[in-house]
Amino acid sequence: MTTLHRSNFAGGPYDLLVIGGGITGAALAHEAASRGLATALVERGDFGAATSAATGKLIHGGLRYLKKLEVALVRESLAERRNLMRIAPNLVEPIPIVLPNPGLVEHAGLLAYDALAFDRNRLSDPSKRIPRHRGLGRAELDSLGLWGLKSGIMFHDAMMISPERLTLAFLRSAAAAGADIANYAKAERLTVAGGRVAGAEVTDAVTGQGRSIRARAVVNATGAWARDLLAADPATAALAGPEPKVRSEGIYLVTRQMSRAMVLTVLKHGHFSFAPWRGLSLVGPTETPYRGPVDQWRLTRRSVDQFVERIAADNTGGVRLTPDDVLGAYGGLRPLTESAGVDTYTASRAHELVDHGRQGVANLLSATGGKYTSSRAFASRIVTRLSQLLGTAVRPSRTAATPLDGCDIGSLDAAAAGVRRAGGDAVSAPVAELLAKLYGQAAPDIAALMAADERYRRPATSDQEPLAAVVHVARHEAPVHLTDIVLRRTGIGQLGDPGEAVLAAAADIAAEELGWDAARRASELAAARRAVQLPQ
Ligand SMILES: Cc1cc2nc3c(=O)[nH]c(=O)nc-3n(C[C@H](O)[C@H](O)[C@H](O)COP(=O)(O)OP(=O)(O)OC[C@H]3O[C@@H](n4cnc5c(N)ncnc54)[C@H](O)[C@@H]3O)c2cc1C
Repeated sequence: MTTLHRSNFAGGPYDLLVIGGGITGAALAHEAASRGLATALVERGDFGAATSAATGKLIHGGLRYLKKLEVALVRESLAERRNLMRIAPNLVEPIPIVLPNPGLVEHAGLLAYDALAFDRNRLSDPSKRIPRHRGLGRAELDSLGLWGLKSGIMFHDAMMISPERLTLAFLRSAAAAGADIANYAKAERLTVAGGRVAGAEVTDAVTGQGRSIRARAVVNATGAWARDLLAADPATAALAGPEPKVRSEGIYLVTRQMSRAMVLTVLKHGHFSFAPWRGLSLVGPTETPYRGPVDQWRLTRRSVDQFVERIAADNTGGVRLTPDDVLGAYGGLRPLTESAGVDTYTASRAHELVDHGRQGVANLLSATGGKYTSSRAFASRIVTRLSQLLGTAVRPSRTAATPLDGCDIGSLDAAAAGVRRAGGDAVSAPVAELLAKLYGQAAPDIAALMAADERYRRPATSDQEPLAAVVHVARHEAPVHLTDIVLRRTGIGQLGDPGEAVLAAAADIAAEELGWDAARRASELAAARRAVQLPQ
């Protein structure tokens, strides 16, 4: 597995500078570097920490987009569902979904959904097979914990165990293909010379130093911040367009396990689902208009409480939720730019690529991701466009079929068996499977750490992810802060507050591995403590 290092970008000038390290930027850096472009990527916070960490973790065709006849979007997403199970088999797996009390429209929609996914099972791993949809009887619904439902249909999509780790896998793959990458490196402004983009001025928050990164092309993949980056300098401000009057906030609750299958509850003005995940449930999303500045958006207690109340009032999915069931919450802003008055729920989730050459700045593109699921395909199209713009030949894309860095595990069973061999008595079967899913080819190394040192065996999550993972990610995945470790590289802070003892033990290991003194350890611990708690 490739070790990710924060670059100082001494290797420029580049063919391509990608600004933004969410899934759109990460997939693009991987695609571009693997097709032969000299590529750099800067992310102002931690990799994948914004909208790409706020998802419902679904890798899905998007059944509901069929209602609006967005057939091409659904077909592409269904193909990507298969591709992601092929290139990241440890991180993406099929999930059964129950649609309660279906009518004729739902039956017709699922017939079309199955037909559009005609090639879904062209995969060698039998555990990734997706069956056709089917009706469920009362007894089956009861056995899934869906008491009170009269009828249902079961169909399948796929789910990521960790979008954060999938985004990192794309970035490690980009680095393995030669891309220079850094988190905590903010593009302050784009530079333009002679009607062409020339790169960006970047500040490294770790060293405090500024650097000019030169590149022949720049892709603005800053999601909800796309307009802010363009507006930051007079040379590009005219490209920014008007400030959107409304954006869409989406939040998810992490709760005790509510059901053993994902349940999709469709309401008049939206939908939400209960999805089993790591022994708990994810409940969401919301679709709430947000009218403030992007930088000031925070998850609030009010959003959490309102959602719990709405579920109690609306739920028809056969499961019940009380405030005491809520262990954690997360959310973000959808990178949509529709104006006031548009219903954010029915807005398209198609990706959008803007070529600013038409507005007078050549070789500058803004790439806004509509769905995590189809980011790889979007990246592939962008690199083809860049090749035309730059007049530079690129290699054909192979990213749909080549396993991502650290994800070439063969089958999950074989990978879990390898983890058990490496860890011996220190690793139980469920922990071996969890490590194989989360850490892929690196999982045996983590198991070996557990075998070597009792301290690293300590479970840090309710599903027993061990502290050994902290050692591994600190050494190999370029975290800067403890929050990067507990919220994104491991699940320690994702399953609700893990408690003071676990957080302190994680801080001890991070301090040893990253060379923090006592004061730094204390401030990192305090920030992590705040980050894992529900907002007050
Ligand atoms: C609630 C919710 C649920 C969702 N659920 C799903 C789902 O289940 N399945 C699915 O397929 N999709 C889902 N989506 C959509 C999906 O999450 C997004 O389409 C995707 O994450 C967008 O990725 P991105 O990289 O474009 O944006 P982001 O992840 O927001 O990345 C943009 C990055 O740019 C960085 N940045 C900003 N300004 C600068 C700068 N000046 N310099 C450097 N870096 C900068 C930011 O820090 C950020 O990390 C969901 C979205 C939401 C909000």
